[in-house]
Amino acid sequence: MDNSLDRDLLAQLDMLDAHNRRRRLRVLATDHGRLVGIDGRRLIDVSSNDYLGLSQHPLTKSRAADWSERFGAGAPSSRLVTGTRGIAVALEERLAAFKGCEAALLIGSGFQANATVIPALASLGDTLIFSDSLNHSSIVHGCRLAKAQTLIFRHNDLDHLDQLLRANAAYHGRRLIVTESVFSMDGDRSDLAALVAIAERYGAALYVDEAHAVGVMGPEGRGLVAALPPTSGKVDIVMGTLGKAFGAYGAYIAGSRALIDFLINRCAGFIYATALPPAVLGAVDAALDLIPKMDTERVRLAASATRLRYALNGAGFDTLQSSTQIVPAIIGTEAAALAAASTLNAAGILAVAIRPPTVPDGTSRLRFSLNSALSDADVDVLLAAIMSLSN
Ligand SMILES: *Cc1c(COP(=O)(O)O)cnc(C)c1O
Repeated sequence: MDNSLDRDLLAQLDMLDAHNRRRRLRVLATDHGRLVGIDGRRLIDVSSNDYLGLSQHPLTKSRAADWSERFGAGAPSSRLVTGTRGIAVALEERLAAFKGCEAALLIGSGFQANATVIPALASLGDTLIFSDSLNHSSIVHGCRLAKAQTLIFRHNDLDHLDQLLRANAAYHGRRLIVTESVFSMDGDRSDLAALVAIAERYGAALYVDEAHAVGVMGPEGRGLVAALPPTSGKVDIVMGTLGKAFGAYGAYIAGSRALIDFLINRCAGFIYATALPPAVLGAVDAALDLIPKMDTERVRLAASATRLRYALNGAGFDTLQSSTQIVPAIIGTEAAALAAASTLNAAGILAVAIRPPTVPDGTSRLRFSLNSALSDADVDVLLAAIMSLSN
């Protein structure tokens, strides 16, 4: 029988190829955790999210191994069945304290958290969602699954958000504002103090994704919500991930005890999913010992990003409003971004071209995300390669 599914799939892939939008998996070898190319030479990693190098830290690795040995390779079930261990509850208490919140709940991954917590909140009743136009795909999925009307405000444009809220002042249900504290593709930040004030003014709930802020920004790396002045209003729902600066895997929601108890009862991504394995919990526990003491690494990371932005701007690249370890260099077309990435690859630098639909049409880019393990010499090599791009 003619397999029309495969035929249609291949036609779609051909179309992506024709537009330079086809994505392919690329196998990268590692040597003691460092990326190496096919020639065995070390690649300079300016693309991963292992911001503090914790995925390779001896303490995270040894505690992962230790907890695996003591508690098993996997969790036996969902947390609500037989999957809740003292180590998970203790870790949630540590995460809540780290985020300055009453309580926290571990969730399988950041994608799962955004895609299922937003619908859980909307299940309370009529909800109008206000979402930043650059929010991560997992948030977009969450808004769609919520089956609630979602109004998109222009990226970080709080006047636009205010306008939309005002235009819906008569709405009888709940308002939920969803944003990120550090945006994953542009590397800029949202103005959380202003967002908290707007949310208070309109009686809206505020949801903030801290995937790229946690570990890197704020006091002791506790994120940007923790950096709000004590007199400020609060962020109702704080989402964070454990696979980026934490160097492990998974995610959590932090907020009030009521929020967490509600999610335990109503969040499908928590209820119907297997608990995180002990090795992951061990690595996260170790990361929580380390992160607050890593100010030296955070300062070093910020300094590398400043150097990179300065060099890129000098070479004529737009770095948008980046003020973090994530630095975009806007190129334009998909083909030009791919060519720039391969030039850098040839110089031993693992840079990745980011193309639509991850970013808007015409803004294909190199997206650098730096880490504190890069030496000054690594950054020198990167800057020299960037100069060669602009020639
Ligand atoms: C990476 C990311 C996620 C998804 O987290 P995972 O744990 O990788 O599933 C969610 N939100 C933002 C902003 C992210 O960058």
